[in-house]
Amino acid sequence: MKTVMLTIEKKVTLTIDGKKVTVPEGTTVLEAAKTAGIHIPTLCYLEDINKVGACRICTVEVNNRLQAACILPAEEGMVVKTNTSRVRQLRKHILALILANHDSNCPTCIRNNNCELQTLANELNLREEIFEREYARHVDDMSPSVVRDDSKCINCGRCVSICNEVQTVGVLGFVHRSDRTKVAPVYDKSLAELSCINCGQCIVNCPVGALREKDNTDLVWEALADKSKYVIVQTAPAVRAALGEEFGLPIGTGVTGKMVAALRRLGFDKVFDTNFAADVTIMEEGTELLGRIQSGGVLPLITSCSPGWIKFCEHKYPELIPNLSSCKSPQNMMGALLKSHYAKMNGLDPKDIFVVSVMPCTAKKFEVQREELEVDGIRDVDVSITTRELAQMIKEARIDFLRLEDEHFDEYYGESTGAAVIFGATGGVMEAAIRTVADILTGQEIEEVNYEFVRGMEGVKEARIKINEDITLNVAVVHGGANITALLDKVKNGETDYHFIEVMACPGGCVNGGGQPIVPDKIKMEINVPVERAKALYRADSAVKRRKSHQNPMVKKLYEDFLGEPNSELAHKLLHTTYVNRQ
Ligand code: SF4
Ligand code: SF4
Ligand code: SF4
Repeated sequence: MKTVMLTIEKKVTLTIDGKKVTVPEGTTVLEAAKTAGIHIPTLCYLEDINKVGACRICTVEVNNRLQAACILPAEEGMVVKTNTSRVRQLRKHILALILANHDSNCPTCIRNNNCELQTLANELNLREEIFEREYARHVDDMSPSVVRDDSKCINCGRCVSICNEVQTVGVLGFVHRSDRTKVAPVYDKSLAELSCINCGQCIVNCPVGALREKDNTDLVWEALADKSKYVIVQTAPAVRAALGEEFGLPIGTGVTGKMVAALRRLGFDKVFDTNFAADVTIMEEGTELLGRIQSGGVLPLITSCSPGWIKFCEHKYPELIPNLSSCKSPQNMMGALLKSHYAKMNGLDPKDIFVVSVMPCTAKKFEVQREELEVDGIRDVDVSITTRELAQMIKEARIDFLRLEDEHFDEYYGESTGAAVIFGATGGVMEAAIRTVADILTGQEIEEVNYEFVRGMEGVKEARIKINEDITLNVAVVHGGANITALLDKVKNGETDYHFIEVMACPGGCVNGGGQPIVPDKIKMEINVPVERAKALYRADSAVKRRKSHQNPMVKKLYEDFLGEPNSELAHKLLHTTYVNRQ
């Protein structure tokens, strides 16, 4: 008979601001206060990621002692006061010291009105500079994706934890000693000289304006003003699930129609949907997968849509480069098709077409510059901007976003299926691929399209999918550097038997990309942001009639009229690429 050990969770009861709170042993005072609905201010703290008690803004009073609540374990009988005069004075003093080493020029700062430091200064009623200001200005803008401004850095260490522990890239750290200690790229180098994967996760987790994307909006304005250019914009699936947040809409509101209308007001000649190219990706990648399975090619096949993941692989797992799908990302497939097929169809010189992509991702800025992606010396995409940059352009043009009437994407390259829109969430590419591959392998239109087992935020999702009596497809879905490292070490050591793996560099996939609207940590503690944004994509998927990529009528036409068939010679020239060993 099996012996089952029961573990009984120990609880402790403490008093916070006169309120009795019972929590599991090991809970911090900060977490216990949250359970009781008591808000203790934080700055360096990042739930589950950075609990170091570095800034001491979360100081509380326990038995007349001042202690940092984020690292203080709750104890039985403890009496905590979060709002005494001493506590408030100390918090103000700490904040004044931080501001003394900080370039507090808020009106020109990228994070003005969305800054945790600014919010705190307001909340704590800090209205004067107590200490003389002294800060050094050093801006690292060599990276195509991330700009780092030392004069705004408050050395909270959030980016260090994200880069090291969540993404396992490890290019940020604490450098120098004693009072010269500061957060910076390792060896005090530029991020461009290190193995930074350009994911931008450090940006979306920085509480202040010390990290930002490389702003390319000027290049877009210039192109829009240039009468000799035919300027086309394409938008990635995840953008529509988050853009509304920049205009005050609740997290998880889909704004496709308003986004399209805003892009037309900005003056783009055509507004197309990257989802079209996501459908093409499934045709190309699905064919590649079937080809490798049938011909005994290199397996597992690993997806290649996430440029952060691609650079991660090139630096850390170059031995797995043969496993990478040779497919370009949907962003670049779209650009290549616009400058070949669309140009031909409309009698345009590809050199006159200027392609702008709006992406949830800062790594896409690096991707568009990769030489391996060029076709006959022409770049697929000219400029890649983030969701935040698009919002900035809409605000700059004084477009009243909330009042815009919904509009549709332009024809042909605006046509897409439900399979394409879910590319923006972790598991989406896999689900889209299964929908098509299962139909091809069985030769039937399989009715079931909801493959729930690859959805959700679990770090690694695995499944064995029995397609028919002869074929079982073993798949895995992984997102976020630490999960990727854990899974790929097993793949490298031959401990797995997967046929296909979907990898996304950002935790949660593109909905949580480094180019998406920045949500303050206080809100992230209440709302699971990637989950809510992903729901908007799954709703969009359920709302359409065609939910499989091979059902897209314009994609079918593209193959009939131009590409021939998936993985054809022309498809390979335009839509596939090679990779670089960066070790
Ligand atoms: S980081 Fe915040 S406090 Fe500092 S200048 Fe920018 S908006 Fe102001
Ligand atoms: S760059 Fe931002 S997240 Fe990193 S230490 Fe400085 S303030 Fe904190
Ligand atoms: S962009 Fe990503 S890899 Fe580069 S420093 Fe930031 S978190 Fe690290």
